[in-house]
Amino acid sequence: MIKVGVFGASGRVGKLIVENLKNDKEARVSSIFVRNELDFSAEPETLITNDFVSFLESSEIIIDFSLPEAMESLLENAIKKHPKPIVIGTTGLNEHQENLIKEASTKMPILYATNMSVGVALLNRLVEVASKGLSNFDCEIVEMHHRHKKDAPSGTALTLANSAAKARGLELDKIMISGRNGNIGARSDDEISVMALRGGDIVGKHTVGFYNDGEFIELNHTATSRDTFANGAIKAAKWLMNKENGLYSISDCLGI
Ligand code: NAD
Repeated sequence: MIKVGVFGASGRVGKLIVENLKNDKEARVSSIFVRNELDFSAEPETLITNDFVSFLESSEIIIDFSLPEAMESLLENAIKKHPKPIVIGTTGLNEHQENLIKEASTKMPILYATNMSVGVALLNRLVEVASKGLSNFDCEIVEMHHRHKKDAPSGTALTLANSAAKARGLELDKIMISGRNGNIGARSDDEISVMALRGGDIVGKHTVGFYNDGEFIELNHTATSRDTFANGAIKAAKWLMNKENGLYSISDCLGI
């Protein structure tokens, strides 16, 4: 059985990873990292700890769904003390944290995905094709998530926007806008807007639209359950286990 350490285990996605691994035939939860209290209820053989060294030592692979600063501490500890394969699902990372993932991936295999679902992996490919094939169409992205989501726009929306920009030979940083307000003038040809809506319990909805005079295409993905992310991350962990050091994507794992 693969020994999995779960980082962010009390969170919306982390809880499902712990729950779904109870019935898994190939992997089990070996350790859970908690911030302060050691009263997390889990299977008797699971180590509950707030010590990074014990957490890393008792796992063969780590799955992280936490917060950017927490992921940063996890990676710093893994780099310095115990390099381990790590599947990272945390979004909203800053440039330093993204660079830290790259640095860590020279010492351990890392799979980083802003969305662990097979549907979004395929959507990403469709966006590349559409953005290139419809290069004179205006590209606009809208994402909707539950009221508790902290980062905006979503990591998934940014990944999709990046794919759309790259397919047109453009740098997202130079052309992305994430809000329109006031007398801002007409839309420029190259801009890609990424708009975030928040409310209720929406698990995740992304629409990538390509608009022209007389016609438009919209590509939609809706996640109806967080199990999609939890199960995607578990699948990714099994796939990453014996890989060489390096930075992998969910498309590498799914072969999409
Ligand atoms: P959540 O707020 O429900 O859970 C966050 C977890 O992180 C909690 O267990 C919390 O205790 C833990 N945590 C926070 N700070 C910590 C610290 N300093 N040290 C250790 N642990 C800490 O969030 P969620 O909805 O489960 O999402 C978690 C992350 O995953 C977010 O960044 C979210 O955007 C992202 N996410 C990614 C995907 C994907 O497929 N990649 C899907 C859904 C959500």
